[in-house]
Amino acid sequence: MNNLISYISRQWNYFKNRFFNIVGKSQLNKFMKHIILFGPPGSGKGTQAKQLEKKFNMIHISTGDLFRYEIGNKTPLGIEAQAYMDQGRLVPDEVTIGMLKNRVNKHPEANGFIFDGFPRTIPQSQALDQFLNERGEELSGLISLKVDDEEIVVRLLDRGKTSGRADDASEAVIRKRIEVYNDQTAPVFNYYDDKGKAQEVEGVGTIDEIFNRLSSTIEAL
Ligand code: AMP
Repeated sequence: MNNLISYISRQWNYFKNRFFNIVGKSQLNKFMKHIILFGPPGSGKGTQAKQLEKKFNMIHISTGDLFRYEIGNKTPLGIEAQAYMDQGRLVPDEVTIGMLKNRVNKHPEANGFIFDGFPRTIPQSQALDQFLNERGEELSGLISLKVDDEEIVVRLLDRGKTSGRADDASEAVIRKRIEVYNDQTAPVFNYYDDKGKAQEVEGVGTIDEIFNRLSSTIEAL
């Protein structure tokens, strides 16, 4: 029964969006907003996404949280991911993309998604675009939280005192994550910028200040 409801709901979303795609993009966006919340580790994506999902009635998907859930349950996926995460490296694209799609497909009722920590490579960005396109949808925009590297190290070492995350506990791993971000993930900003879809927001300030900046950026999309 649940499968049937989910199937009908998926079909309905698909045809609704195909229709509004034809009628006009502005109409489409009224129904679906898909946002990438972007920025280096420790830039506040997770904190902000949790509040934004409530305000905009969207679904927040953090690939880091999904991997930590799998690790907690000692699943084969979790065991594979942990080796990469402990070293501050990226989990391979095929594994990450497959997991992300599964998660999205579990929410046929969603008004839109806030992707946090995904995409982190150009192949992940291409896979996301293709996936949304197959659903008759598209990305509304990427919003990048701007925080400089030294501030990130201070924030993550501080978070490591309470987060229980092994990858926040060591300065060497934190610096590796920043290096991976600059080498492999930062190009994702340019990829969407070339499509006119990327914006930057100042990521330093109080949680409320940053939330207000993000909210008005999303409202304008
Ligand atoms: P996060 O919670 O977003 O800081 O992610 C923690 C770790 O999970 C990262 O350092 C990566 O090892 C892994 N991870 C999370 N998202 C991705 C992704 N999109 N691609 C590859 N690895 C990821």
